[in-house]
Amino acid sequence: MAGNLGGTISLGDLMQHGSCGIGTFDGLDGEVVILDNEVYQADSTGAVHHVTDDQVTLPFASVHQPADLTALSLDRVDFAALNQDFVARHELTNVFAALRLHGTVEDITVRVAPKQGRPYPSLLEVAKGQPTFHRDRVSGTIIGYFAPAIFGTVTAAGWHLHFLSDDRQFAGHLLSFSAPHLTGDLQVFDQLDQHFPVADAEFRRGKVDAARLQEQIAQAEG
Ligand SMILES: [Zn+2]
Repeated sequence: MAGNLGGTISLGDLMQHGSCGIGTFDGLDGEVVILDNEVYQADSTGAVHHVTDDQVTLPFASVHQPADLTALSLDRVDFAALNQDFVARHELTNVFAALRLHGTVEDITVRVAPKQGRPYPSLLEVAKGQPTFHRDRVSGTIIGYFAPAIFGTVTAAGWHLHFLSDDRQFAGHLLSFSAPHLTGDLQVFDQLDQHFPVADAEFRRGKVDAARLQEQIAQAEG
């Protein structure tokens, strides 16, 4: 979020910690979806790649091992429903949780971050130039995380969801969608491991205006 977009952990190391998750590659290169140990990347042309090189690096990712799942069967799902009814019903306000949903999604818009070069631009500049892609109707998987506002500096508060179609041709960071019916599962975490890139000089020497960063996150994430 503070503009350190260089990759600091290899995909192989990351996946020691989880078989499912989301992220982005070195330089904010696209949107990553990890499903059952298979890694996919949407790039800023809209193409989706199956990634098998575990030496590629990531500046940001969240992964988890599925366990203690609560099965879900949801009607009329969209962001409004997830933000309000769903968070309330499952008492997510103060916890981290993973959500995985599958089914036919309508009127879906995703965005894909384009790879950036050094010197890395600010979060707001990056957010301005991100292509979006739309499908009227597509079957696939929504996967991602809920982060509570009380820990809002660890990651942006609220939902961070990515999408991957069943045909592996359409993917990205989920901006909007609706779905008549989705099934899947919810996992609430009682523990969070945060990896810090202590060997990375940019991270160690970087100066971050924390108050301004919070403003920028609020603007960029809407
Ligand atoms: Zn994302």
